[in-house]
Amino acid sequence: MRLTVIGTGYLGAVHAACMADIGHDVLGVDTDPRKIEALAAGRAPFFEPGLPEILTRNTENGRLRFTTSLNEAADFADLHFVCVGTPQRPDSLAADLSHVEAVVDGLAPLLTRDSLVVGKSTVPVGTTRALSRRLAAGLRPGVDAEVAWNPEFLREGYAVQDTLHPDRLVAGVTSPRADQLLRAVYESMLRAGVAYVSTDPATAELVKVAANSFLATKISFINAMAEVCDASGADVVTLAEALGHDARIGRRFLSAGLGFGGGCLPKDIRAFLARAEELQVGEAVSFLHQIDRINHRQRRRTVDLARHVLGGSFAGRRVAVLGATFKPDSDDVRDSPALAVTAEIAAEGAEVLVHDPEGLDNARTALPGPTYCTDVTQACRDADLVLHLTEWRQYRDLDPVELAEVVGAPRLIDARNALDSALWRAAGWNVRALGRPVHVPQPGSGDALRVTIPQAAGTSWTAPTPGDPFSGAPK
Ligand code: NAD
Repeated sequence: MRLTVIGTGYLGAVHAACMADIGHDVLGVDTDPRKIEALAAGRAPFFEPGLPEILTRNTENGRLRFTTSLNEAADFADLHFVCVGTPQRPDSLAADLSHVEAVVDGLAPLLTRDSLVVGKSTVPVGTTRALSRRLAAGLRPGVDAEVAWNPEFLREGYAVQDTLHPDRLVAGVTSPRADQLLRAVYESMLRAGVAYVSTDPATAELVKVAANSFLATKISFINAMAEVCDASGADVVTLAEALGHDARIGRRFLSAGLGFGGGCLPKDIRAFLARAEELQVGEAVSFLHQIDRINHRQRRRTVDLARHVLGGSFAGRRVAVLGATFKPDSDDVRDSPALAVTAEIAAEGAEVLVHDPEGLDNARTALPGPTYCTDVTQACRDADLVLHLTEWRQYRDLDPVELAEVVGAPRLIDARNALDSALWRAAGWNVRALGRPVHVPQPGSGDALRVTIPQAAGTSWTAPTPGDPFSGAPK
């Protein structure tokens, strides 16, 4: 089939390359000429495992091309996937839909044949209906076009795998023709047994938002338990393990730590809150305010713990930060908890040296100031404290004995509860983590210690505000 993918960022570039890889003729469209130039040359403009290989393969075999011209897109195909960004608005919790609206407004008058516009971006419920009206208003006489929604569930770091082998496909359609076209696009996956849920657009839009709200809730739930563990001497890692044995609960997304970030979960739960208010059912999802606040509190708690470990002040101290991206296997630093913590400790007077395997360029742009290092040893040399903030695999493979010889003092905060604390302690490190006792108790030893992370006195938590990674924190 011939199709276009409009918006070739993390979602669209992967979707375009994967659609070509399963045999379609694909034209990728973006307003960013540098992105298009890189993609057309078969170069991934961001780090995503497996993407360079499928980009090269499909640009070379001619099934995948790129352009900045929407005119060319309208000429090329009658099926258009919309993958542009839907960030949080600067002035509210709501999603900024101006990019999806611009695509529909731009495309409508260019269409000369009956067409299907399929949204993949994450949007508030009701968007397909509103965009359908916009599209209809802009069409030439005699041209028929409709909008469907086909939300995307890929995870950065696994995006190629997730796109080629999704858990499920969800199609929000208003006509049998749209359903047939989408089934044809994904025919090879349907033959492989991938579940296909055909529904109305509102349900399809909600599936994505509800899925991200559930995942965010699971993460914040275990982080809330970590706070209770800190106050009571219990161990959140053992708690999560024991909870996870219950098949109704499951172990995944129950890793306590610094919390979630990135370009999706935070803005998606806020956009959901805003949309629910508009629908006058704000109360039904008001718990998401708490989810957001718990999440932001982990950033503050990590900074508080670090300051405490350093004796009460960051001034004049040297801190090594391991990890800048919002998650491993991505170079994405959008709303990165690691960078939020880095910014705060730098603002409090620490000299901060940051290492990340793939995110240094983006981190340097997002947060100028800290020293960015391509080598872990360089980042850790003479450090008074090492902060493990993003759980890249290579940090789990570090040799704590070797690293202890490099640092100024062997102090580690494992803000992702991902390192082998017993191994690091055996190598002489003072290891601390959110939700874990200072010494993890051995069964029957009764040596659990209650841990209180001091906060500034007389403070209260306020609701997060857009663009401020610490707005859930005490003022
Ligand atoms: P992104 O910022 O990486 O990419 C968006 C792209 O759209 C950019 O390249 C931008 O230049 C382009 N664009 C903006 N306006 C345009 C226009 N009028 N015409 C053509 N191109 C235009 O964002 P992303 O992470 O790819 O996310 C896109 C959407 O997909 C969002 O709604 C997001 O919530 C959703 N999503 C993202 C992921 C993910 O893991 N990143 C997963 C599932 C869903």
